[in-house]
Amino acid sequence: MIKIFKFGGTSIKDVESIKRIAGILGNYATEDLVVVFSAMGKVTNMLEEVVEDYMQKSGNPEEKLQKVKDFHEHLLNDLFEQNHTIYNEVNNLFVEIEWVLEDEPNPDYAFNYDQIVPIGEMLSTKIMSAYLSDNGFANSWLDARDIIRTDNKYRNAKIDWEQTISFCKDKITHFPIITQGFIGCTSENFTTTLGREGSDFTAAILAFALDVKQVVIWKDVDGVLNADPRFFEDTEQLMKIPFEEAIELAYYGAKVMHPKTIQPLQRKSIPLEVKSFLHPEKESSVIGDFNTIAPFVPSYIVKENQILISVADKNLSFIVEEHLSSIFSLFAHYGVRVNMMQNSAVSFSFCVDNDRHKVPALLTALKENFEVHFNDSLTMYTVRHYDEDSIEKLLKNKQVLLEQKSRHTVHIVVKDR
Ligand code: ASP
Ligand code: MG
Repeated sequence: MIKIFKFGGTSIKDVESIKRIAGILGNYATEDLVVVFSAMGKVTNMLEEVVEDYMQKSGNPEEKLQKVKDFHEHLLNDLFEQNHTIYNEVNNLFVEIEWVLEDEPNPDYAFNYDQIVPIGEMLSTKIMSAYLSDNGFANSWLDARDIIRTDNKYRNAKIDWEQTISFCKDKITHFPIITQGFIGCTSENFTTTLGREGSDFTAAILAFALDVKQVVIWKDVDGVLNADPRFFEDTEQLMKIPFEEAIELAYYGAKVMHPKTIQPLQRKSIPLEVKSFLHPEKESSVIGDFNTIAPFVPSYIVKENQILISVADKNLSFIVEEHLSSIFSLFAHYGVRVNMMQNSAVSFSFCVDNDRHKVPALLTALKENFEVHFNDSLTMYTVRHYDEDSIEKLLKNKQVLLEQKSRHTVHIVVKDR
């Protein structure tokens, strides 16, 4: 019976963590495992900085890349003998980035991103595969670009399910396998990425394609919590989470997992376990075919760095369908997702993630036809299964800019005072 395990960056952030994961996997050495890894520690963020500097004339991408090299170099020295072949393999991956940096950047930021950032996952899987092989967990390394086929919407590529399923069935035949999360490949052999935290989604894609019975996402928390402990005290672990509930939570920004992860699993009723790699003996949270969430408590989701944009007609006319349709086509064009929206007779307001690349472009385009105002550095709170008490506590000392309530969910956009 095939099982999919996914380990995120935190689980392999240093030598001690890597050894711990090797210990856990040792217990599963005889199982038909596919193990998906993210980039190590904060490497994805570090590579994003390389891309930023590469795109800016004044930037110094080589210096930023050096930090990524140093990080991996330290790990290698602690994990392997000096003459190990892994040094060469890692070096070759860095050379791939250096080649990109030698050329003029492509005008498309997202394209450049996808040629550089995925190297984080290539590095982590090469290193993990070698380290595990040396330590009693024989495995084969699989290039995710040979199995995950996507379109060419860089940074947010869409899966070609038919091709992906057929590649997975053809190529995943012996176990255990180590592969990369987060990345895919176009039919023209360009690397793509599936969106930040996309490794969870990769695990779900593989589970769907291979009809597995179990997916485990290993995390540094005991399971899925009802709130992010960085923002809230007294969090509680959610033990049983219906698929629909998990989709809602993830969609509104709970860091439970990449929002696209759940649908493929729900489609085939494949339960997803969220388990602690620090305390594997503890009971995990399970997302599956349940009727209600247990325990039944409010869940809090915090989305920081929001911008609230209001548009009005330049001639002060009412906002009518033509306006809305042109506004929405701009969202689609710039790939901006609306987290919350509200319209009045003369204006239309929407709250979106303040992405440094997408939002300025969107604002410029909106200003061509509309009167535009915005308010940034905002936070959006979503509470599922709210009660008055939970909202009151939440809003203490905050200025509410927009609020929307439905039966189970409340969304509130606030400015901190
Ligand atoms: N390494 C990628 C990221 O940090 C993908 C992932 O971790 O799931 O977003
Ligand atoms: Mg990560």
